[in-house]
Amino acid sequence: MCRNGGRLVTKPPNPSTDCSTDFEPDSLSVTEARRCILGDVRALTETERVALPTALGRVTAVDVRAGLDVPSATNAAVDGYALRGTELPQAGFHELRVAGTARAGHPWRGSLGAGACVRIMTGAALPEGADTVVMQEHVEGTADQVRLAAGVATPGANVRQAGEDIRAGGIALKRGRRLRAADLGIAASVGAAELLVTRKLKVAFFSTGDELCPVDGGKPPAPGMIYDSNRYSLHGLLGRADLEVHDYGIVSDDRVALEKLLSKAAATADVVLASGGVSVGEADLVRETLASLGNVRFWKVAMKPGRPLAFGAVGRACFFGLPGNPVSVLVTFHQFVLPALRRMAGERETEPLLLRVPCATPLRKRPGRVEYQRGVLCRTPEGVLTVTGTGAQGSGILRSMGLADCYIVLPMEQGEVRAGELVEVQLLAEF
Ligand code: AMP
Ligand code: MG
Repeated sequence: MCRNGGRLVTKPPNPSTDCSTDFEPDSLSVTEARRCILGDVRALTETERVALPTALGRVTAVDVRAGLDVPSATNAAVDGYALRGTELPQAGFHELRVAGTARAGHPWRGSLGAGACVRIMTGAALPEGADTVVMQEHVEGTADQVRLAAGVATPGANVRQAGEDIRAGGIALKRGRRLRAADLGIAASVGAAELLVTRKLKVAFFSTGDELCPVDGGKPPAPGMIYDSNRYSLHGLLGRADLEVHDYGIVSDDRVALEKLLSKAAATADVVLASGGVSVGEADLVRETLASLGNVRFWKVAMKPGRPLAFGAVGRACFFGLPGNPVSVLVTFHQFVLPALRRMAGERETEPLLLRVPCATPLRKRPGRVEYQRGVLCRTPEGVLTVTGTGAQGSGILRSMGLADCYIVLPMEQGEVRAGELVEVQLLAEF
């Protein structure tokens, strides 16, 4: 429904609109807006090769295949004695001669005969003929001779098979994977000192509003002015390894200045983000400016906070006009901008993970919009996970976001939430 040649996307008026709900006929649903955005943005095709230590948080551009088995040899999982499983006694005891020692990096080169075992340390390659390791703690004896009791191990015990982690020729890391700590270790385990990743996305951002005062301007805000906090929330949101960010500061509510800045930002960035000025007030010029320089795909979403959210394009850059209210900036970034950035970086999974938990307290809500209330998860003394609202949920109460560890996602049709009712939550840690 969004692919309409770059024109404005609106929905037909709904005659059931009334003022007991938050429903607005010309807004897109969250799902439609997300689908529209993800349908519009394209994954980057440019890649770069990066050294492994700097690859954290980047997205793999190709499958990383293993050129060898990991582990490369069958080896001991514990310190003990390597032997043939057939030497394990069924009943009573069995004595074995200790033929030598194998340590990690120093294999025992002989071949294990009948009645013999090899003292072996964790990680050492299993000697030829051995298939079992008996833990040191389960064995009695001297340096030359050990005594095994029945039941100390089963044949094949305490052995890590060659290739049991990753097989030679298999895929160690899939393409489109945002690299986490373990992935760097996986890459190293298959000998990849460098990885081919998607190039960094260029993201430009600025704040709009005559009332804004820069926090680093050296002057306190004049009466009626406020510090620009959104740009700093955005610095935090955009502090990701795969982004190259450009802070364009503050622009006043002036058509010419806004046009100039938006054109300049769009000329070099892949994504441009602005906050403020997307509503319908006299000073809200972002939507008009977007329409004059490029195209507006939609500008209103049935959600709270965050209703005015403009999405479109200027030249090759995609543009998000985020709301001015400080909480709305974070919510709309998480719900719309981040999935877009992930898609552009070539990352695979973008569906949010929602958990169902009982809500400990009642929550105020009217049908008609999806709400992202801020919540805190906690465990009851009985060990049950519950969620509580952070208190006042106004879109200007930025502290509600600071206190929260999750969004309580209340669907469009949902009314008041009763204490104990099940709700869905999305962990902020996911972002
Ligand atoms: P707007 O969408 O421009 O009408 O802004 C909505 C509300 O958010 C107003 O109260 C603005 O003062 C406030 N606001 C807009 N931009 C910022 C910003 N960068 N930092 C803090 N508050 C802002
Ligand atoms: Mg404004």
